[in-house]
Amino acid sequence: MSNSRKVALITGGARGIGLGIATALAGDGCDLIVNGMRSADDVADVLTALRALSARVVYAQGDVSDAAARARMLELAHDEFGRLDVLVNNAGITSVGRKDLLEADEASWDRVFDVNLKGPFFLTQQVAAWMIAQREADSGFAGTIINISSISAQIVSTNRGDYCLTKAAIGMATKLWAARLADHGVAVYEIQPGVIESDMTVGVKEKYDRLFAEGLALERRWGKPQDVGRAAAMLVRGDLPYATGQTLEIAGGMMIRQM
Ligand code: NAP
Repeated sequence: MSNSRKVALITGGARGIGLGIATALAGDGCDLIVNGMRSADDVADVLTALRALSARVVYAQGDVSDAAARARMLELAHDEFGRLDVLVNNAGITSVGRKDLLEADEASWDRVFDVNLKGPFFLTQQVAAWMIAQREADSGFAGTIINISSISAQIVSTNRGDYCLTKAAIGMATKLWAARLADHGVAVYEIQPGVIESDMTVGVKEKYDRLFAEGLALERRWGKPQDVGRAAAMLVRGDLPYATGQTLEIAGGMMIRQM
């Protein structure tokens, strides 16, 4: 098993950062299960482009916050590939309505926590059990789990409190799973993207164009999905050994303060 092509499940892998990751992994010789909310017809062009990179790609439509949908993703992985080497918990949503803390409502809280935290946690639980079984069957098996959190795990946005809280909690989930799976040959990492060009940030483009020009990050540009994709591919290749549980900031140096 250790010499064959790796198989990666990427949630929210058909656009934005997830597509950047899917493209990088396909380019590195991984086969893919791409998950997303849209119909297979709606993402057909994206899947065709990924297949052009010589990857076998199957699409698993479904909501990561829904247990039945998560089970279907793994059934598909079993049926199509019979193995799973990589899980990238990327799917996520921002705070619904981006309301100030004093106006924030429980409906947004519940949805954001379900998608950004509950879904990845329980998907990881199921994948972990399968990875442990794969390791028991083949001592050469090495699993990789990557959680896409955000610099919002560290930076406060008072109009997205629920989002920030889920991203901070993903940091602890990463450490928990790293500790639980280290003896089973599975490494778990967190990537904290900075401000990345995607549909999620299209509505705040002018604001961040200005902030980047003013020096928001040491590298004065928007992050790109490919920047995060290359970081994930490095982890999947095993090019950051002896580092399970680590957090990578892919944020152009945004977290470095100057005076
Ligand atoms: P995006 O362009 O809005 O894409 C989100 C992706 O997640 C889409 O593929 C979407 O599926 C999928 N998705 C949303 N809800 C889902 C659900 N309930 N079940 C399954 N899939 C779901 O966002 P993005 O900017 O690429 O963000 C990806 C991740 O990076 C998120 O976790 C986000 O919090 C994080 N992040 C983003 C930034 C940034 O600046 N953009 C910065 C830091 C962290 P469809 O394609 O089917 O709609």
